[in-house]
Amino acid sequence: MRTYFVRHLLALLLVLATGAQAAHPPWRTSPHPESSASGLTGACEDARDFLLGTGRADITGPAAEVGMMGYGMVEQQTTGIHQRLRSRAFVIASPCNGKRVAFVSADLGMVFQAVKQQVVERLRARYGDLYTDDNVLLSATHTHSGPGGYSHYTFYNLTTLGFSPRNFEAIVSGVVASIVQAHERLAGGTLRLSSGELLGASRNRSPNAYLLNPADERARYAHDVDTRMTLLRLTRADGTDVGLINWFAVHATSMGNGNTLISGDNKGLASSLAEQAHGDGDSDAFVAAFANANEGDVTPNILGGTHGGGADDFEDTDLSGRKQYDFAAKLWAQAKTPLTGGVDYRHVYVKMDAVDVAPSFADGAPRATCPAAIGLSMLAGAEDGPGVGVEGVTCAGGQDAWGQFSCSLATTPCQAEKPIVLETGSMRPAPWTPEVLPLQLVTLGNLALVAVPFELTTMAGRRLRDTVETALAPTGVTDVVIAGLSNAYSGYVATREEYARQDYEGASTHFGPWTLAALQQHFHLLATSLRDDAGVPPGPTPRDLRQEQLSLQPGVVFDDKLLWVDFGEVVTDAQPAYSRGDTARATFWGGHPKNDLRLEGTFLLVQRREPDGTWTDVATDADPATRYQWKRENCVPTLACSHVTVTWRIPDDAAPGTYRLVHEGHWKSGWDGNVRPYSGASRTFTVK
Ligand SMILES: [Zn+2]
Repeated sequence: MRTYFVRHLLALLLVLATGAQAAHPPWRTSPHPESSASGLTGACEDARDFLLGTGRADITGPAAEVGMMGYGMVEQQTTGIHQRLRSRAFVIASPCNGKRVAFVSADLGMVFQAVKQQVVERLRARYGDLYTDDNVLLSATHTHSGPGGYSHYTFYNLTTLGFSPRNFEAIVSGVVASIVQAHERLAGGTLRLSSGELLGASRNRSPNAYLLNPADERARYAHDVDTRMTLLRLTRADGTDVGLINWFAVHATSMGNGNTLISGDNKGLASSLAEQAHGDGDSDAFVAAFANANEGDVTPNILGGTHGGGADDFEDTDLSGRKQYDFAAKLWAQAKTPLTGGVDYRHVYVKMDAVDVAPSFADGAPRATCPAAIGLSMLAGAEDGPGVGVEGVTCAGGQDAWGQFSCSLATTPCQAEKPIVLETGSMRPAPWTPEVLPLQLVTLGNLALVAVPFELTTMAGRRLRDTVETALAPTGVTDVVIAGLSNAYSGYVATREEYARQDYEGASTHFGPWTLAALQQHFHLLATSLRDDAGVPPGPTPRDLRQEQLSLQPGVVFDDKLLWVDFGEVVTDAQPAYSRGDTARATFWGGHPKNDLRLEGTFLLVQRREPDGTWTDVATDADPATRYQWKRENCVPTLACSHVTVTWRIPDDAAPGTYRLVHEGHWKSGWDGNVRPYSGASRTFTVK
């Protein structure tokens, strides 16, 4: 993600306007239950029986007039839906030691700390101590095409004009609903693991920074991105397959910064394909998560710049999503190795801006992390969404596009090569980015998940995996994956060498050049305590900023229309006939999507007529083949009307027959302020 410089002013105004005084809670420590047997020893050794449950829920926020999260552009606001966003949950428990973990992969740019705080709070209200910070792992797919404004930290709400309570609630309640569903479906089963190399689906977007890593280290790897996909197949004892999770490191940026339709991007599309293949829609649905890993410097746009090989954003998304889906299907069929051992986990909050790094984790000298700050090159953006200036501006250079300006910027000895454009950690009343951050280690039998609230570059991820793998090897752990963008968010982590170049990822490494070393040190501690059955102190409690949130986002005043038309009436009708591969389209008089988000519902239906005259739904707004597009029209100069266009790209395997496009929504009355449902249908048309 990136943010333009000018927008800091906007946020500054925002802060000044509120005059908000953040309560600064003391860093209190809470008692922590001592952990019992390690997952892989004692009663859990060789245990193959797990309890499994999967769940899926809708987390699609306002589909119009909310700034989107990822590219950091005020003008990129939602205007409709390409795919609905989902939270996909997996509860996995081990009878051998009575421990459980809830893993969630959500179609979000990031999982902000506030989301984790309130999800755990609601789970606690329902289940007591069964689900806590320690065993709930929320990971984002990193789609850049979802609505934003759901962080409690100013920096991440700059381009969305503050906090969006509607979006935040849609996300938190959906994530909770998916976990509750998984919890209620818990039944005996097995986990099988499979992995392989997926080539041609990703590319390093900062190759020159990668080249600064030591030659002998680079020589250990065939590529400058991690091409490994690791897949878990979840099967109930009765043989029913209930889901899959895979981890593959790639940015969900096939959709560019010109897209304004909500979309799960390549990861969401792959999930949708997998779920459709396993009979999407039935009551006991199969749940397929395409989770992210150490994707910090990894782009899906394999042809350079923002190009992924398709004709447009939608084709790029389709290409990348299908590559990931096809490969996952292959690994799925091959998954035979059962995971053995129980479930275990360790979690700690770390004040990331004040870590003393021991010489053995740094360069032989004692080092420290720094107050959070972003470098000038963050404004340049990564090549997936270019911004202002160029990448790679360092204090030492000064001859780049920014010239004298970059060298006139302050840096600190701690931040070394980084020309500081904004010290987010020093902003008052509250810092603009968090510094008390969650680090979490989960083992599911032989598989370890390293959950980090960052975007790690390829080599940073490899080093962290090595640290954990070495510490856990005696317990039988054979596979370690990075669960990126988990539980909170605070920018990127580049290696010390990559940091020196100050490309986008280095400039976005908030806590300075030794951030990765600090992570390795803390994960070494988590891994050894898990190995040795020891507990870890919980660390400081992150601040809760829910009382400080301000929104400048417009609500819906009311919906206008011309006197002689009704909501749901057709403006431009469908054609009488189409062929497969064509796009059917109709435009309706509509209401604003903020009137009702239609969670677990839809704004559109594609329906086919049965021989008895009844209509069968064949697609909703969640289907990548459909689009729901909202547009504000001045129907006469004084009236602000909504036009809604429904499109359906008719699949090549669509059954011939008679179809229609339906739009459903809610409108808000200017007379009584009430919100009422409406619907409308296009003419019928034939598909040949
Ligand atoms: Zn990113």
